[in-house]
Amino acid sequence: MKPSDRSQAPARTFRITTLGCKVNQFESADLAERLRRLGWRPAAEGEAAEVHIVNTCTVTGRASMQSRQAARRAVREAPHSRVLVTGCYAQTRPGDLAAIEGVEAVVGHEGKFCLAERLVGDGGTSPGPEPHSEPFTERPLEAFVDRTRPFLKIQDGCDAFCSYCIVPYARGRSRSMPAEKVLEALARYRDSGYREVVLCGIHLGAWGQDLAPAGSLAGLLADIDRQGAMARVRLSSIEPRELTAEIIARVAESGRFCRHFHIPLQSGDDGILQRMKRPYDAAFFARRVMDIHHRIPDAGIGVDVLVGFPGESDAAFENTRRLIESLPVTYLHVFPFSPREGTPAATFEGRVDPRRVRERCRVMRELGAAKRRAFHRRHIGREVDMLAEARRDATSGLLKGMTSNYIPVLVDGGDELKNRLVRVRCRRLGPSDTVLADIV
Ligand code: SF4
Repeated sequence: MKPSDRSQAPARTFRITTLGCKVNQFESADLAERLRRLGWRPAAEGEAAEVHIVNTCTVTGRASMQSRQAARRAVREAPHSRVLVTGCYAQTRPGDLAAIEGVEAVVGHEGKFCLAERLVGDGGTSPGPEPHSEPFTERPLEAFVDRTRPFLKIQDGCDAFCSYCIVPYARGRSRSMPAEKVLEALARYRDSGYREVVLCGIHLGAWGQDLAPAGSLAGLLADIDRQGAMARVRLSSIEPRELTAEIIARVAESGRFCRHFHIPLQSGDDGILQRMKRPYDAAFFARRVMDIHHRIPDAGIGVDVLVGFPGESDAAFENTRRLIESLPVTYLHVFPFSPREGTPAATFEGRVDPRRVRERCRVMRELGAAKRRAFHRRHIGREVDMLAEARRDATSGLLKGMTSNYIPVLVDGGDELKNRLVRVRCRRLGPSDTVLADIV
């Protein structure tokens, strides 16, 4: 694009489009805050931005396709904007994105963390300050636009190399934010008025292993509890082996941590788990879930399932279905297997017919929906606390809130309740997996 074209977009305005996980969303919020501190402002709805950053994802083939589409859309919708592409897809397949006409630069993860400074430095994307490998924000975020329950990334990278997963190639070795920085970030969020923070990472259970001296997630949770800055702290996904008895006990006893766990199972068949290079078997997973259930009977327990891995026979799929059916799991995230180039599983034999994969996904999603409904129904007539969100439900106009154990609740209430913990009584199941409730 010629520089003269750019002058038609308002100077020092930015837009960020984000795909993918909580970590990516946190990094976009971090980038936005850095840009704001440097004097940029977010473009208004419908306004072309000087710079449009697309923060991509590549966890599945579909995520990569959606990332390419987002980059093309950014170019098409605002031909005078400078389009920069970053994130996991940009890190692993920069050529795919550089080939899109109108994309000015493709920036990997290291460059992403100083993209704001580079833009300010010379108005371009290079040369700028040297890319740095420190993946954590230097100053804790104060605001997380559009979220009542902001994320805090405390860990990045993964050393596990499960056979199907592209993430370690995109994000590198496991690195942890030091405990004192985590506490500082929580205090900063509290000072900005937040009541709940979601701790997230690429491999959250590995938190602390790379620090000197080494720490553990259980130890960090004890520190967070002692500090007491944040009213509610929610944990995002934790691997089965890393969800220790200590962590479960902390959540059961403290009252500060949400009674909600998300655990990646992927398969309930031991042969498939081995081929996936997952370090547990179905019996171990079942024990973990039952440990949670015995300590915290009302815990929300979400599970990831990867359907159609190479070699997954009808019997293997049935093992997964039966295992989940038998456990007090409360919702499922179901993903079809997607071969990621460069991972061992991309070349495994025994690809499952796509129609069969679709059918298995349907069966699994139905099971997940039934489990979710049953869990919500068990709460009818009970009193629960919900954190009321800033944005009302778009269809009903009711206040929307989230319980500690991850039930979305709708309630008739005034704006003064927003961002407050509100005691409600669940009345009946509502639309789109919600529960309708009354203020107590
Ligand atoms: S633990 Fe396995 S699935 Fe999770 S990010 Fe690491 S390699 Fe990927």
